[in-house]
Amino acid sequence: MTTTLPAYDEVVARYEPVIGLETHVELGTNTKMFCGCPTDFGGEPNTRVCPVCLGLPGSLPVANKAAIEAIIRIGLALNCSIAEWCRFARKNYFYPDMPKNFQISQYDEPICVDGYLDVEVGGETVRIEIERVHLEEDTGKTLHVGGATGRIHGATESLVDYNRAGIPLVEIVTKPITGTGALAPDVAKAYVAELRDVIRTLGVSDVRMEEGSLRCDVNTSLNLPGQEWGTRTETKNVNSLRSVERAVRSEMLRQASVLDAGGRITQETRHFHEDTGDTTPGRSKETATDYRYFPEPDLVPIAPDPAWVAELKAALPELPRVHRRRLQEQWGLSDLDMQSVLNAGAVELIEATVAAGTTPAAARKWWLGELSRRANESGVELAQIGATPTQVAELQGLVDAGKLNDKMARTVLEGVVDGEGSPTEIMTSRGLEVVSDTGALTAAVDEAIAANPGIADKIRSGKVAAVGALVGAVMKTTRGQADAKTLRELILERLGVQG
Ligand SMILES: [Zn+2]
Repeated sequence: MTTTLPAYDEVVARYEPVIGLETHVELGTNTKMFCGCPTDFGGEPNTRVCPVCLGLPGSLPVANKAAIEAIIRIGLALNCSIAEWCRFARKNYFYPDMPKNFQISQYDEPICVDGYLDVEVGGETVRIEIERVHLEEDTGKTLHVGGATGRIHGATESLVDYNRAGIPLVEIVTKPITGTGALAPDVAKAYVAELRDVIRTLGVSDVRMEEGSLRCDVNTSLNLPGQEWGTRTETKNVNSLRSVERAVRSEMLRQASVLDAGGRITQETRHFHEDTGDTTPGRSKETATDYRYFPEPDLVPIAPDPAWVAELKAALPELPRVHRRRLQEQWGLSDLDMQSVLNAGAVELIEATVAAGTTPAAARKWWLGELSRRANESGVELAQIGATPTQVAELQGLVDAGKLNDKMARTVLEGVVDGEGSPTEIMTSRGLEVVSDTGALTAAVDEAIAANPGIADKIRSGKVAAVGALVGAVMKTTRGQADAKTLRELILERLGVQG
């Protein structure tokens, strides 16, 4: 059965969306949450395991202090209160991705609560309230083999790798986000982007969505204006910023079409499909009572010393929002200009280019101009374009030194993007350098004057505008490697005319 989806504008005119985000961040600690197993990625399956993370009888977990420090810093950066005393909880479930048949998590006593994160959407600040930030252990990875879809249905065997089981995982849960209307998908995306930047700044995780160290579940519901919130669905494991936005949008459209037809929304988890951009139903959602939570009896409570928490707070780095404000001021940009830098994903690139010795204006020109254009054409992120901030600074240095004119610099940059080497190397290998040897240039000018006596006479008689034709002629013989302004002055000088 296929149904035609309503137009997005109509949906947001009739319904109010409520969204919520649950984000999981794998911490970059050296060892797992409750044992000494290494957390490095890519080991042979089931080689990063021990009796504790395999849940063998008699083994006992011990909490990782570095992970607790990391989550407190995340909580502080998100303006949360830090619990003075809280406990881990045992979440019971029978699924082979946890060999113990339970996961150690936190339930009604999370370590960080009641925070917020301000994000910019379309020039406005939206405050996203954070309900809780808690710590748990990651599960293992299952692989279903033999079926067409990679799902368990139709598979002939299932494999499990416990290397990931027990890696510390931070879960950050927002309060329901209301009142965003048509901007709901953009708000969701902006929140995840800002959260990623905050956590990256703290240095506690590499927060790579494509590698799964930052994973996002998106809750979406629709209600009629003035009515109760609708039933929500949870779209699981959305793996890129763009997908966060698409997942909210497509779920709003799907729910509206169900509601328009008089149907009801089922509370369930749904899977997002990168290829089609829509969601399909997964399992119906478990409720907390299904997990039979109880305080974890094998671990002591967490009671961080308030003095230590205060120390961590005082030592927080400058957070991305404050950092961006400072850069905007330093670079002398208007809000609108800064917004286009942000939209292009160019803040860090420009910052690094300036640090490599270029003016902010020049750095911005290259990253937002030529390089953004190339990135758009080839459908890659600006940071993946193949030119580095150091190379861009080097290129601008060649322009500033008068070795490249603007047109030649663009050609050299194309070469950098195509992986031909550094700007200086490409300039040399392609023979692209402004002819600054005045002897050679004077000879070329004299030659052009001799070859075009009519034009030369015109210029001598005062029609200075005709100089363009001679500039063009010299450019041709020097293959565009002369600087047009210098050339113009030289021609006039040789003809004895005042520019
Ligand atoms: Zn272990």
